[in-house]
Amino acid sequence: MSQSPAVLPKPKCGEPYLLTPGPLTTSIEVKKAMLRDWGSWDGDFRAMTADLRHGLVDLLGTGCEAYDCVPIQGSGTFAVEAMLASFTPKDKKTLILSNGAYGKRAAETMAYLGRPTEVLDKGDYLPPRGPEVAALLQADPDISHVLIVHCETSSGILNPLTEISDVVAAEGRALLIDSMSAFGAIPVEPSSLKFEALVSSANKCIEGVPGFGFVIAEKTTLEAAEGNSHSLSLDVHAQWAHMEKTGQWRFTPPTHVVAAFLEALRAHKTEGGIAARGARYAANRDVMVSGMRSLGFETLLDAEWLSPIIVTFFCPADPAFSFPKFYDLMKERGFILYPGKLTVVESFRVGCIGQMDEQVMRAVVAAANDVLKEMGVTSAAPPAEALKERARLAA
Ligand SMILES: *Cc1c(COP(=O)(O)O)cnc(C)c1O
Repeated sequence: MSQSPAVLPKPKCGEPYLLTPGPLTTSIEVKKAMLRDWGSWDGDFRAMTADLRHGLVDLLGTGCEAYDCVPIQGSGTFAVEAMLASFTPKDKKTLILSNGAYGKRAAETMAYLGRPTEVLDKGDYLPPRGPEVAALLQADPDISHVLIVHCETSSGILNPLTEISDVVAAEGRALLIDSMSAFGAIPVEPSSLKFEALVSSANKCIEGVPGFGFVIAEKTTLEAAEGNSHSLSLDVHAQWAHMEKTGQWRFTPPTHVVAAFLEALRAHKTEGGIAARGARYAANRDVMVSGMRSLGFETLLDAEWLSPIIVTFFCPADPAFSFPKFYDLMKERGFILYPGKLTVVESFRVGCIGQMDEQVMRAVVAAANDVLKEMGVTSAAPPAEALKERARLAA
């Protein structure tokens, strides 16, 4: 057994750091906020729900008055499904811009809903670009809605949201955004983007715990959505109308999760809002990526497309490397990694979000260096095929 280097800062509360895109490492204050019970019907909790909704809408900045926030119980996928079911029409097409697992899931959701769908499939990690989307919209006037995944968490690519929003608006169509893993760290502002609705969840960049997602939509869109959902529990209009009328959730709310989320929102504001949160994550990424590169690791994506949320690395070609072993030894040192989701080559992911700073990221790199030595890996360079594939697709 090798010893961890003494310089590693101990994870808070003695738990490992979650280098994963949610659930993620939360603050002790967020955890403590869950140490009491709330009556879902009680005025105190209704006030908490109102604070949560206002706090989230405020994050849109200038122009936020046109929008409202509707929390939805469940994980993020429930909220994506609620948004698609409530806002996409049954007699017009929705174009899904897919470049990874979450785009695929959105298309699959549309298939469950039985709604007319087109998919622009860019494979595992190429971004959808404005001109190709404009061409698709011009060629098919039946497309009324477009869904983009803001940060495609499966590869870590930050998709060109403004570029896509511009062409969708120019073609007079409506934009829906899966900003699940980006909202709270990367601006989504009606002053510079035209969009009908976005969706995110409690356990990503706001740094709460899992238990609900939320849809932020134009009030006109919410009004028009009456009767459009196939589902009772995922009907965004019904949840919104009920909350507006009674201040309550329609069905049992995740009370402790809401309390934790309000604490997380307070901390987000204190830190300096979206700009400061995004800057901390970007610094985490920069320190971690340059450190991993110095060990010989290569990122899947070119620098231009690396999100400050999560980064995909190729597994080293060295036969002494095995990801399960690497994972276990990193966990022993206090870091939980995330397996990769690529189909062509082996990869793993390192998240940059949660209660972590540059110092923690330096410790991650030091631990990785230590683990490679323990495994007897002499080079962390990826297989030649991986780099060839990357170059071919970038061309
Ligand atoms: C996390 C995430 C989701 C939702 O996933 P859940 O596991 O249901 O929370 C959807 N889209 C993206 C881009 C995500 O990162």
